[in-house]
Amino acid sequence: MFSRILTHKATEPSSDQIRRLKQILDGADAVIIGAGAGLSTSAGFVYTGERFTEHFSDFQAKYRFDDMYSGGFYPYSTPEEHWAYWSRYIWVNRYMDPPKPVYQQLFHLVKDKDYFVITTNVDHCFQKAGFDKKRLFYTQGDYGLFQCSEPCCQETFENESAVKAMVERQRDMRIPSSLIPHCPHCGKPLTMNLRSDNRFVEDEGWHAAAHRYSEFLRRHKGMKVLLLELGVGYNTPGIIKYPFWQMAAQNAEAVYVCLNFGQAACPPEIERQSICINGDVGEVLQQLLEKHLIPEAADPVRERNSL
Ligand SMILES: [Zn+2]
Repeated sequence: MFSRILTHKATEPSSDQIRRLKQILDGADAVIIGAGAGLSTSAGFVYTGERFTEHFSDFQAKYRFDDMYSGGFYPYSTPEEHWAYWSRYIWVNRYMDPPKPVYQQLFHLVKDKDYFVITTNVDHCFQKAGFDKKRLFYTQGDYGLFQCSEPCCQETFENESAVKAMVERQRDMRIPSSLIPHCPHCGKPLTMNLRSDNRFVEDEGWHAAAHRYSEFLRRHKGMKVLLLELGVGYNTPGIIKYPFWQMAAQNAEAVYVCLNFGQAACPPEIERQSICINGDVGEVLQQLLEKHLIPEAADPVRERNSL
């Protein structure tokens, strides 16, 4: 239904854009946050460079991986080595905090609003920053959950203590065989609860979150809704981006904000009710927060000018 040619904004975020975004945020009946990988990248969860070398130099030397993703896809010849890699990967990206407080900044901006979050991120950062679990729908799984590899059941299992033991007790890139996780029902190996094929388990919590999300959308139909899209790329646009465009097109009161480093764009059909900001998510949120915390009258530049 939308034009194939998108309106791109290649300019730096302007203070005018930030001011408009703040006004819309203040006046919105509800905020629907759609978050993709770019939000966690902005928070410092990068999968290459120093952060990769710091935790995976042995795997890097043996297999010549350059980033954490490649190591995650590698078909290791034993489960002991597979879990040596994956336990570290989960620990670093799920249980350790991201280096920068971008999620906390976002929380400060919306905590007093009626908000809901839909995200393809699986790193649990929203909950760690204080977001209400009942206002979250993480569609693609969670690094903190295991599921049966078969799967024999639509159940997930929290993995913190299992992963911690694997990280602590591994030697020479192998975990002890006794720590290999198995399904408590059928005995088959457990695997990560991440959507990669049709074996992904959507457990009770997943369905409850999906239901709460659709109810939230239904309750706010036709209202002043801010559709705040943060760091969403084009890998799986059908989950957040396209539905956000559609909601904007169907509701004249809605505003679509696309905040993305390098890929800020919208279709011309909704351009008049959109703001596309090309910049680092964390930096833009920081600017927004400064405007949020300091009332206009206390702006030092204004004060000086009025003397
Ligand atoms: Zn099973």
